[in-house]
Amino acid sequence: MTRKMKIYSHDNLSLHRPLPYFSYGKMHEPLEIPERMTELLKAPKALGLEVTTAKEIGMAPILAVHDFGYVDFLKHGYNEWRAVEEDLGPQVQTGIFVPYDNPGLGIMAKAAKYQADDSAPISEHSWTSIYWSAQTALNAADALLSDDSGASDIQLCFSRPPGHHARRSAAGGFCYLNNAAIIAEYLRQKYSRVAIIDTDMHHGQGIQEIFYARSDVLYTSVHGDPVNFYPAVSGHTFERGTGAGEGYNVNFPMPHGTDEAGFFDYIDQSIESVKLFDADVIVHVLGFDVYKDDPEARCQVSTEGFKILAQKMRALDKPVIVLVEGGYYRPKLNENLQAFLSGLIE
Ligand SMILES: [Zn+2]
Repeated sequence: MTRKMKIYSHDNLSLHRPLPYFSYGKMHEPLEIPERMTELLKAPKALGLEVTTAKEIGMAPILAVHDFGYVDFLKHGYNEWRAVEEDLGPQVQTGIFVPYDNPGLGIMAKAAKYQADDSAPISEHSWTSIYWSAQTALNAADALLSDDSGASDIQLCFSRPPGHHARRSAAGGFCYLNNAAIIAEYLRQKYSRVAIIDTDMHHGQGIQEIFYARSDVLYTSVHGDPVNFYPAVSGHTFERGTGAGEGYNVNFPMPHGTDEAGFFDYIDQSIESVKLFDADVIVHVLGFDVYKDDPEARCQVSTEGFKILAQKMRALDKPVIVLVEGGYYRPKLNENLQAFLSGLIE
């Protein structure tokens, strides 16, 4: 198979800017900030690779995965928040987290239901970035659906804000719309078997939740042991799926401090599950937060490691859509993405 590559992005991905927030008993400077995009976009430029501006695919693929009320909250929540005659701050963020249903009377009640933690606030331009992050990812899926002769079989999408922690009806962990799940569902129009392989430092509990009872979408994730590590509540090996989906959810939690060889041992096992599944198409959730100096890292992946990771994805010899999601050590985002891209094209 020839391996042509296409890269998608959109200027709107840089609009969302969260403010400092309180969690784990202390204040945090936000990690998931627009400057990440500035660094990441340097990589294709340095390698002379063209970046295509994403076109709009629309809302339908988003609503195929997420609850209507939740998407409505993401889109209109900020304006509702600003309309409240209280001294509220510049972003939707209540510190009230009540996951069970409530009557939704008022923006605070909606926020209590639809935000799972304090790391996913909604400010003036958040929705524009959230929406276009999903649209950018959808461009790669749409190309595979609409053009089976000229389509690139390796595609990489900038996906900011990221998505893998977003649940069907809850934002959290810097994530709002679950880009990987949205495109996996969209790809099902053409492909019978879609595999999502997640190599971000954190378990993508949103993807797991959305496909937990399904056997047509495999979810396999290599991530830091979730015991006292985000998302804290999921990512264990014993979470294997349910009903028809039993066995189609394959988690590889790594002990904290795992070295690079250990990381790739888990990656190889995760890839084995994709091969066993015999996927028609692969969605790769790529996180640069496994990089050894990343503030979120609990393992020791080097810059060279991202090239090896890309080579492993390429070697699967299937159409691959890579979503660039986590990764917070800005001084190395450019270099690490260059390493990954070079592994895809060489
Ligand atoms: Zn992460």
